[in-house]
This record gives sequence, C-alpha cells and structure tokens, in this order.
Amino acid sequence: MVFKHEQLLGKSRFRSSYDAVIIGGGLHGLATAYYLAKDHGINNVAVIEKRYIGFGGAGRNTAIVRANQRTQENLPLYQEALKLWPLLTRELDFNLMFYNCGNLNLAHSDAAIKSLRLNVSSAQFHGIDSRLLDAKECKTLVPALDISDRPRYPIFGGMYHPPGGIVRHDAVVWGLARGCIKHGVHIHQNTEVTDIGVKNGKVEFIETTRGKIKTEKVLNAAGAYSAALAYQMLDIRMPISVLTIQAMVTQPLKPLMDHVVSSGAYHVYANQTLKGEIATGSHMDPWPNYTTQNTAYYIKHQAEALTELFPCLKGAKFMRIWGGLADMTPDMAPIIDGNDPVEGYFVDCGWGYFGFKSSAVTGKYMARFMATGQCPAILKPFTRQRFEKHRLMGETAALVEFSPNN
Ligand SMILES: Cc1cc2nc3c(=O)[nH]c(=O)nc-3n(C[C@H](O)[C@H](O)[C@H](O)COP(=O)(O)OP(=O)(O)OC[C@H]3O[C@@H](n4cnc5c(N)ncnc54)[C@H](O)[C@@H]3O)c2cc1C
Repeated sequence: MVFKHEQLLGKSRFRSSYDAVIIGGGLHGLATAYYLAKDHGINNVAVIEKRYIGFGGAGRNTAIVRANQRTQENLPLYQEALKLWPLLTRELDFNLMFYNCGNLNLAHSDAAIKSLRLNVSSAQFHGIDSRLLDAKECKTLVPALDISDRPRYPIFGGMYHPPGGIVRHDAVVWGLARGCIKHGVHIHQNTEVTDIGVKNGKVEFIETTRGKIKTEKVLNAAGAYSAALAYQMLDIRMPISVLTIQAMVTQPLKPLMDHVVSSGAYHVYANQTLKGEIATGSHMDPWPNYTTQNTAYYIKHQAEALTELFPCLKGAKFMRIWGGLADMTPDMAPIIDGNDPVEGYFVDCGWGYFGFKSSAVTGKYMARFMATGQCPAILKPFTRQRFEKHRLMGETAALVEFSPNN
C-alpha cells in the first residue's frame, strides 16, 4: 500500500457528513476508527485531532505493556490487549516493535509482598503468567539491582510477569493511522471540535474549527481533555482529575537491564531501550493541572530513586525529559459508556497510567459498541454509573503497592 501522507496532514477532503466522528487522534481514537472500518465496514469515519496525531499521551508515554492488573474486571481486558500486539503488527503490516522483556515490580516490605501475592493470584486465576520472586531471584533476573540492606527501602522480593514488555508508542500511532487510511477513514489534524449538537436527546452534528459536520455517532476520546469537553459541550460530569506525568531518558549506557523494573515505594519505573538509554518515569504530580512542564524536583527524585535501586547508575546523565497529561479516575479504571445520557454519544477516557497498553483492544471493542449499540461484556464494568452506585474497582493496587511510606 502506498502511504498517502498528505491525508495525514489534514488534506483529506473535509466532508460535511460522516457516519461516525472520533474526537481525538490519540491511541484510543485511532484504534476505534481503525476497527470501525476494518471489522464493521463503517469507513465513512473522521478522526478529528486538534493538533497532530500522537500529540497527547499517545506520543509521550513510556510504552510499558503488561497484563498483571489487579481486579477481575480489568484483568481479561489487559490479557487480551497483550496478546493483540503481535497480531496487530502482522495485520497492520507495520512493525510495532513489541519487545517482550518481562516486567518486575519490586516489593520493599512484608505488607508489599502480601499485596503482590494478591496480584499474582488474581492474575494466575485468569491464566496470566505472574510469579512471586524473593530478593535473590530478583537479583538473578536483574543483576544490577542492589538487594543489600543499604538502600532506604531494601528489596524484599518482586512480582515477575514474563509476557509483558515494551511496544514502540509512536509506531502504534503511525501503524493505526496507516491502517485507518487504508480502510478509508479520514484523519483531520489541526482541527478542534468545539461543540456537539444535540436534538431530541440525540447527537445531530459536531462543530469544529473547520466547520460543521453532520453525524449521528460521536466518540469522545480526547484523553486528558475528555472530561472538560463532556462538561462544556454536554453538561456531563465525570470524576476525572488531570495530572502531569513526567518521564526522562539517560544517556546511552552499556546493557544493564533487560526487563521493565518498577518500585511503588520509590515511585519509579525504568527500562533500558534498545539504544541503551534508561527510560524512566515516576508517579504523577500530586496536584491537578494541565501543564506539561518539567520540574527540578522530579529530576532529583528520579536520580535518587534510580541510584538507590541501581547504584551503578550514579553519575549517569539525563539527556531528555518531557511531560504528558493523565486523565485519572478515583479507582484508576477507565470510563467507557455509550448512548448515555445522549443517544449517539460514546466516551472512552479516564485511562490514567494504563491507556497505552489497553488502547488497541479497547478500540476493537469500542468499535463494536459503536457499530451495534450493544456494550460488549468486557467493557460493561467501566460505565460512569459505577461512581454513582459507589462500585469503585480498586485498580489503584495494580500500580502503587503498599510501601513503607504510604
Ligand atoms: C509520561 C507518561 C507515561 C505513560 N506511560 C504509560 C505506559 O508506560 N503504559 C501505558 O499503558 N500508559 C502510559 N501512559 C498513559 C497513556 O499515554 C494514556 O493513557 C493514553 O495516551 C491515553 O490515550 P487516549 O487516546 O485516551 O488519549 P491521548 O493519547 O492523550 O489522545 C487524545 C487526543 O485528543 C486530542 N483532543 C483533545 N481535545 C480535542 C478536541 N476538542 N478536538 C480534537 N482533538 C482533541 C488531543 O490533542 C490528543 O491528541 C503514560 C502517560 C504519560 C503522560
């Protein structure tokens, strides 16, 4: 297939009517558009992106994929998500660079080991490969780890998840965009959705900076902007806080880490890229905001945390740092809904830290939801109504284990 680059540059004809409009050219928007066209033959679809595809979390994340989430509702989705990457690589005929290096979550207290044990059993219950390791086994897996009593939080053990790893995030964006174009989807960049028109309880049109589009189906996949968009355009409130996540890479180093390693107690995760850089991220900034600015505080925190776990990194230099926004719900699980409270309005947001690994599979099921009007069983638990019914999920435990300081 010849890659029609001009279409990606916003030059595909801007129609005045589409069968479905996707707001946001991020991971979830592109994936849904792709599957709408490929699986359901709905290809009169427009993806409307206010800047450029991958401008949001899609192009800023640290590309970690894994299936060892915590709750019964989330595990099946992430399990299928992980299995999809190699299939999607073939299907899109685009190398998504899945590096199946495995993930190691460290525990620094007896309480953390107990918490990991719960995670491991939940994962194993779903047939997901997840194992508990003691400190020596962690060291065998990642020899550069300091498992002595020297660090402030010594390593007690870890949760090892061999099927996880890294997928190139920009490759996913470009691969899905290419797949969309191949199936006739229009991608309009530098175009902002400014309003959603509703008549008699149904979506009728959207308003954009390039004009009005008639449509009966709209997906709000605007990532960190989705809650503001829903409130401003439809008066729908969602319990989402927008927080900054910062990430950085060091100078290239000789191979020293061939797994993704994370620690809840130190609020740090890291992996070594194929170029040799240590790519590392941290917890979110503790206050809601829409800035992607970086802070000296995080550079210092990251340097301290990394060198506690990996003393050999002392003296390594950070080369690049960036920030992105995360749309965080109180239970760290997404909000997925359709035809509520407006017919034809769908939403897929609130992914916080987990929206990369879940993107392709969610797009596949979201497309089915939009095409048929029936919410697939795997997506049903994520309805916005769960907050009104006080049925939160506790997915927070998939990320921040019990640690000595929390
Ligand atoms: C530093 C960092 C590290 C991360 N690491 C990981 C990780 O390792 N693994 C993981 O699974 N997840 C990770 N994430 C989270 C992940 O990146 C997000 O959850 C994911 O990108 C969400 O995808 P999305 O499609 O919902 O939103 P986005 O990718 O943010 O896309 C939303 C798009 O909507 C557009 N938009 C907004 N408003 C409008 C409008 N009015 N009109 C038109 N377009 C609009 C935006 O410009 C944006 O391009 C990380 C995030 C960050 C910031």
